[in-house]
Amino acid sequence: MRRRLLFLLPAAVAAWLLPYGLGGYTMHVVDVAIIFAILAIGLGLTMGVAGQINLAQIAFFGVGAYTVAILTTQAGFGFWSAAALAVVAAIIAGLLVGIPALRMQSHYLGIVTLGLALGFINWVTNAEIAGRAEGISDIPVPPLFGIDLSSGYLFYYLELAVFVLALAFALFVTHSPLGRRLRAMRDDDLAAGALGAEIPLLRMTAFLLSGLYGGVAGVLYAGLIQFVAPETFNIGNMFLLLAMVIIGGRSSVIGCVIGALGLAFVREALLDVSVFAQLGYGVIVVLVVVFFPKGLAGLPGQVFRRTAGRRPQLAPFVPYQESATPDELVALEIEQVTKRFKGLVALQDVSLTVPAGQIRGIVGPNGSGKTTLFNVISGFYTPTSGRVRLAGTSVTGTALYRLSLKGVARTFQNLRLFEDLTVRDNILVALDRTRTSWTWRYLLMPWTVFRYDRGLRTTADGVLERFGLGDFADAIPRALPYGIQRRIEIARAMATGPALLLLDEPAAGLNGEEVRRLAEIVRSIRDSGVTVVVIEHNMGLVMSMCDHVTVLSGGRVIADGAPEDVAVDPSVVEAYLGDSMAAPTETEAEHEHADR
Ligand code: ADP
Ligand code: MG
Repeated sequence: MRRRLLFLLPAAVAAWLLPYGLGGYTMHVVDVAIIFAILAIGLGLTMGVAGQINLAQIAFFGVGAYTVAILTTQAGFGFWSAAALAVVAAIIAGLLVGIPALRMQSHYLGIVTLGLALGFINWVTNAEIAGRAEGISDIPVPPLFGIDLSSGYLFYYLELAVFVLALAFALFVTHSPLGRRLRAMRDDDLAAGALGAEIPLLRMTAFLLSGLYGGVAGVLYAGLIQFVAPETFNIGNMFLLLAMVIIGGRSSVIGCVIGALGLAFVREALLDVSVFAQLGYGVIVVLVVVFFPKGLAGLPGQVFRRTAGRRPQLAPFVPYQESATPDELVALEIEQVTKRFKGLVALQDVSLTVPAGQIRGIVGPNGSGKTTLFNVISGFYTPTSGRVRLAGTSVTGTALYRLSLKGVARTFQNLRLFEDLTVRDNILVALDRTRTSWTWRYLLMPWTVFRYDRGLRTTADGVLERFGLGDFADAIPRALPYGIQRRIEIARAMATGPALLLLDEPAAGLNGEEVRRLAEIVRSIRDSGVTVVVIEHNMGLVMSMCDHVTVLSGGRVIADGAPEDVAVDPSVVEAYLGDSMAAPTETEAEHEHADR
């Protein structure tokens, strides 16, 4: 951190002195480049950090600039009051464009946002009030304590101040619990939801940030050029902006700035051959995507691979402190749950009751509905009929994040770690128990965010130590062995502080020693007062670990009882006849791993 600050000082001095060495035209180019950099930061936050494909950023820019233009020239507003309303208007535009993101993602979202941006361009080109194709001229120069901002040199300093604030706020957001949740949502929105992130609100937050940065850039643009016309906000410039973000590095705010400044100057150099320029950007983007998928910002990491001192090792698990069984006697009640997928009945009239403080095993042949049952309990699916109760209260149909906040945590059969987040960040996402509505603090009381985050980090170190993962804190999960990833997933689920933990085939792909350690961890979790429901194929593990076993077959409960009674139940033996999964051999378990 210190070193970074030292690095900042010369950058600040250079930025301050820059205008002294520049001609008037070059100064103007720099002024425009900074505006694009602000736009690129906004796009980087929405697209790179939050993973929401947003091709309407140029329209938010336009809403900001046009609002200033219209209010100052046609409604008699002063520049700054128009500017404030312009930023609000751009934020509202951002939220409106964000609404489709609640229903669709990836390229569909790209097409919809692009369509809305085209609609905006179309509107300003045809609307009387927006000056049609000629645009609006004579926007007043922003007054500022008598400083003559009609000079590109002085305007530069205003821009610089806004830019530094915009950059600082973006860095603050990306390095905060909110930024972590946004990145978690980008990597796996369902897993993020299951850890307590309110996905719809987070999506809207991403578009709100887009609108904010677009609006601020638009205000600066109107003040700088004093003229707006449709061609500034066309698709060609949207593409340029996209290229800036991709080349610089989508998920790095600094990368976006570098990409924006770099391309802005390249664009200037290619102005006389603008037909080829578009083609040139296209080629550059393709090359970057192929060779540096993380953009220029990922380059240092690609070149200087971290050289580890000693081989990182999994440390032993530190057992939880034992605590008395919680007061509520029943942790989970499932009543007559049926789940249909079109024609297929995955669960039929399933009822079961799990007392608090138990390890309940769920076994059954493949396709018998075990994972579906977990999906119903944890809120991924709403049951077609029936009820789910947690500690006596009905939670049927409750949203994912709410269930997480109520104390349900789970792992996944196919592992759903956030692959682009470090192991520590995976844990930190789970530790964050705030609602998204808490984010007003980012604007009004940023220091409380810092304090909260510092607390989370201390707790995260504790969780990593307990699960023996200290050596892997800064590693990226996908680079780690399967057994360690499984353990990280349990640690992450436990970091939410659950009352009910659902483990979906936690032993799949583990070797004998790892399975033994898993049993030890699960028992300790139970002894700490958490109720555990575990889907497992490894019969040896089920027999030794579970207090009680429920057997599913074809979506129905066919047996329920103590492990040793269930194992000899004729209907269970029959259900398993011909199903080799009853007791998977080591090779089968490994095969499953390879299949992933
Ligand atoms: P298990 O975990 O016991 O192996 P699952 O619960 O994954 O079984 O699946 C039970 C049945 O429900 C399977 O036939 C599966 O194909 C079906 N199923 C599960 N999820 C879906 C879904 N989202 N859409 C359609 N069918 C599904
Ligand atoms: Mg399953």
